[in-house]
Amino acid sequence: MRLGLFSCRLPVMEHEFICEVCGLTEMLTDELAYTSGWDYPPFVGVWAIISPRACPDCDMTDTAWWALQTGTSPDDLTDKQKEAVERIIYEVPRS
Ligand SMILES: [Zn+2]
Repeated sequence: MRLGLFSCRLPVMEHEFICEVCGLTEMLTDELAYTSGWDYPPFVGVWAIISPRACPDCDMTDTAWWALQTGTSPDDLTDKQKEAVERIIYEVPRS
């Protein structure tokens, strides 16, 4: 019997990615989303904290995060950006 080190990685799980700019949704793993160009946690930003949630075809400068970073008042966000903020702050953090 051979004993040795083995991988303890959790199973790779897909979950839903939602682009806050164009509304595209895809079921992907975190790694595939990142390598495909999604700006999304855990590689870009942190779960449940406002940061970009954008697909590969959209620009993070159209996100709620960008608007807030560049001085837009929360009251002046577009309805779509306000929806994104609401969705982001209630995200369930994943590792
Ligand atoms: Zn998009």
